Amino acid sequence: MSARRILLAGGGHAHVEVLRRFGASPANGVSIVLVSPDRCTPYSGMLPGLVAGHYTHDESHIDLEPLARYARAEFVRDRMAKNVAEPTTTQSATLPATTQPANVSK
Ligand SMILES: Cc1cc2nc3c(=O)[nH]c(=O)nc-3n(C[C@H](O)[C@H](O)[C@H](O)COP(=O)(O)OP(=O)(O)OC[C@H]3O[C@@H](n4cnc5c(N)ncnc54)[C@H](O)[C@@H]3O)c2cc1C
Repeated sequence: MSARRILLAGGGHAHVEVLRRFGASPANGVSIVLVSPDRCTPYSGMLPGLVAGHYTHDESHIDLEPLARYARAEFVRDRMAKNVAEPTTTQSATLPATTQPANVSK
């Protein structure tokens, strides 16, 4: 059991970078749970090019599954029910009780 567990609510730009850095440089005693309703997250800078037809969906999206594996993170396909700023009331429908945000180190 890890000493500290970090919950990443959403697979947007900020958390993509967190995952990339943990993958490149794992921290002992820290595990990560990524909760995202989507497997692929758009790279916003390429969205105009996607709309214009210069890029395909795959070229302009980041697949969170291999990225989570790289970061040794647990990937939960779900949507957080409430704002993570309220950790005692935040709930994910499918997240195991042990990884509900109230039990996750902030
Ligand atoms: C068209 C466009 C072009 C842009 N181009 C640039 C650029 O060239 N350079 C630049 O610096 N910035 C650019 N930006 C801004 C940049 O995209 C944002 O600053 C950046 O995405 C913010 O990152 P974030 O992780 O905070 O949020 P986001 O990337 O928005 O990530 C939030 C994530 O949370 C997820 N989420 C939301 N609610 C829930 C929930 N209840 N449960 C679980 N997950 C949830 C969302 O699905 C999303 O994946 C652009 C934005 C747009 C719209």
